[in-house]
Amino acid sequence: MIDTHCHLTFPEFAGRVPEELVLAAQHGVTGCITISTTPDNALECLALATSHANVWCTAGIHPLYADQGPFDLAPLRACIAHERCVAWGELGLDNHYADPPRLIQEPVLHQQLDLIASTDAQGAPGAGKPIVLHCREAFADLIPILRASGLPGERFVFHCFTAGPQEARQVLDFGAMMSFTGVATYKNAPQVLEAAVLTPIDRIMVETDAPYLSPQEVRGQRPCRPWMVTLTARAIAQARGMANKDFERATDANARRFFGLPMSVGDEP
Ligand SMILES: [Zn+2]
Repeated sequence: MIDTHCHLTFPEFAGRVPEELVLAAQHGVTGCITISTTPDNALECLALATSHANVWCTAGIHPLYADQGPFDLAPLRACIAHERCVAWGELGLDNHYADPPRLIQEPVLHQQLDLIASTDAQGAPGAGKPIVLHCREAFADLIPILRASGLPGERFVFHCFTAGPQEARQVLDFGAMMSFTGVATYKNAPQVLEAAVLTPIDRIMVETDAPYLSPQEVRGQRPCRPWMVTLTARAIAQARGMANKDFERATDANARRFFGLPMSVGDEP
């Protein structure tokens, strides 16, 4: 399996990434995508990806970091051109917190959508790569912006989906992939698991968002660690009435197809 969304550059993992990767592999998690939150962080993510086998990265500015601008986008352009950088993001909108305000978040989102469009239009290195979205309580705002961008829905994944069936249907209608964290395992969030159950098997991925969001079974443990994606997969498989192995195989294939990862690794018996 692949942990399709974690933050291995965060202080919680400082100096212990190799151990985390070994532990993850022992649990059958043979790859990780470490996600960028700022242009400087994108460079750190790329450094990690280029120094570890089966670690890939992304290039983007998280909406909750939007107030750290103005941003020089050159590092994002440099990262996305690299083969170990498999996607843009995470980018999007977050209405959960008052800060930074939408007035600050939205221009940073548009800046990145414009960068993606111009990279595509120029056929520059990195053109056509998929896009990881952060969307918290912002579906009604974000989906129209994405539609207006002209970028096809199939290029997007809504990471850490924490809404319910109604929003899931909006995302699926748009054409995007859905990705679930440990939140889908929380007893107090049954609507998230419901959304995971109604998502077609070829549109679903799993992730940890480590160091955050440890799944229910290990909810008291900090940090959340990449191996724990197996617990989320198990809970969703059970809710879908699927064998673990079949669900893992399906989500692994989805992740490898969506992010353009090699298909051979992780084909565990
Ligand atoms: Zn994240």
